[in-house]
Amino acid sequence: MITRKSAREIELMRRAGRVVAEVLALMESELKPGVSTAHLDALAERHIRAAGATPSFKGYLGGRRYGKGPKAFPASTCISIDSEVVHGIPGERTIRAGSLVSVDVGAIVDGWHGDGARTFIVGDVAAEVRGLVDSTRLAMMAGIAAAKAGARISDISAAIEDVGMAGGYGIVRPFVGHGIGTDMHEDPQVPNYRTGSRGVELQPGMCLAIEPMFTLGDGDVYVEADGWTVATADDALAAHFEHTIAITASGPQILTKV
Ligand code: MG
Repeated sequence: MITRKSAREIELMRRAGRVVAEVLALMESELKPGVSTAHLDALAERHIRAAGATPSFKGYLGGRRYGKGPKAFPASTCISIDSEVVHGIPGERTIRAGSLVSVDVGAIVDGWHGDGARTFIVGDVAAEVRGLVDSTRLAMMAGIAAAKAGARISDISAAIEDVGMAGGYGIVRPFVGHGIGTDMHEDPQVPNYRTGSRGVELQPGMCLAIEPMFTLGDGDVYVEADGWTVATADDALAAHFEHTIAITASGPQILTKV
């Protein structure tokens, strides 16, 4: 079911989104070689709770879709490094220079969710890698720009796919954007590629998480033995950006910003 949110509900989602954006800014300042992903996650959780919000990911039961049984996500952030695309589990692993680090964060305020992600470049990387990261972010922004009332889900998908294809990037297909509200994942799905279907018409009050995932390879992925971490099958580097937006009569509004 696709729900349309009231102005008051969107304001609560904007508060949740602001917490998400603050955490991503905090991650950017704390991401240095030698720092463990568990430490970053602890900082993120502390910030979310200090803001009066709740981490959406902690305890989230989604692992069963890709693993052998229900499996709760154990942390407040997903931290995915290099060829990991999404859903990496924070732990004792430390950040190294020359890495791509993708951080995904969800926060709940008064029952309403915000969801956002960024890929950070740590130290120096090849121009090709920087291009991957820039293009993934630009694809997200192109998808957001296409999210106008009266347009269709397929317009968002096409805008994202066009940026990916222009750069020759692999587009990750099994994981897609989504509606968001009182649940982190609501209808409709927002694929990052054309599906052949126009999808529903976008209407004011609909809230979506738009989240392209591009790779330097063919885009095929698998789920690692931990039941969560999604990595590229060809070991190619991956990037992921995500904003939560609201469709309004005057255009799309990004909710995951400070
Ligand atoms: Mg999401």
